[in-house]
Amino acid sequence: MSDALVIGSIALDSVRTPHGEVKDALGGSASYGSVAISHFAPVSLVGVVGRDFSEEHIALFRSRGIGTDGLQIVDGQTFRWAGYYERNMARAHTISTHLNVFEHFVPKLSPAQAKARFVFLANIHPALQLSVLEQLKSPELVALDTMNLWIGHEKAALTKVIERVHLMLMNEDEARQYTGHDNLIEAGKALLGMGPRIVVIKKGEHGALLFQNSGLLAVPAIPLQSVKDPTGAGDSFAGGLVGYLAKLGEVTDDNVRRAVAIGTCVASFTVEDFSLNRLTRLTGAELRERVATLNKLMTPPAIDPKTLEARQG
Ligand code: AMP
Repeated sequence: MSDALVIGSIALDSVRTPHGEVKDALGGSASYGSVAISHFAPVSLVGVVGRDFSEEHIALFRSRGIGTDGLQIVDGQTFRWAGYYERNMARAHTISTHLNVFEHFVPKLSPAQAKARFVFLANIHPALQLSVLEQLKSPELVALDTMNLWIGHEKAALTKVIERVHLMLMNEDEARQYTGHDNLIEAGKALLGMGPRIVVIKKGEHGALLFQNSGLLAVPAIPLQSVKDPTGAGDSFAGGLVGYLAKLGEVTDDNVRRAVAIGTCVASFTVEDFSLNRLTRLTGAELRERVATLNKLMTPPAIDPKTLEARQG
């Protein structure tokens, strides 16, 4: 098992969905990412919050064994994001983004953090992701996530980061926006050609596509009857993926396939409640049960091609 490191946003989110709303609830890409990883491997968090950030949230990270030495608490307001989802909850609509203390944040890794072997550059300004990347000594796997805001406004900076990471995650809209390809297979291949040897395109309730040089894997999402709040699904997916690879300790193509399946399962819990409520309650037994469900979904009965031989005359 190897140590993991996460940098990204630590936020107070105000979210409205057809199933309710929360105000200033704990959120942020690094919060979801680190809690997801903590189910599998030791992890530390690099980021910044303001004086308004509750001690309870920091206690929650610590209670999950998440290293908080890299979490700066500075004068000013914590990053805030407000958004809403329409009935099908397929995509988040941003109402406001206030970077606040992130505007002047300079990440500084400790010598131990710089040696992390498994790193998740969760969604935040690409310049901050690059700064962390440049401080890493010899990571085994660096995974990168982003969002439409940075693709739209910071594409050149983001491209520099993409070219240097091993694993790129995007949702389907982002992959189309970034690559200009409407077809997701073309988009995935274009990203694979930029440097990352692993590309994951997330399709929400329709699962995820994994691209590696050895081939493509399509993983279904877990069919869920109750989805309350999709916020953090992508970050939890990535955290589950990186955390499981850190637990296995070796990034082989087969392990990456397994890890994408684990990311799928972890994300399926996050969406069942608001904020990090479900992800922090998640037990090992629940996770094992959902992995068994996914195993069944991914094993259709084998079809003998001979049964499809063309009809004669
Ligand atoms: P997702 O996994 O894509 O649903 O990520 C949701 C999280 O992203 C929320 O908790 C937000 O706080 C965070 N977020 C939203 N906009 C940004 C941004 N511009 N930079 C960093 N994090 C963000």
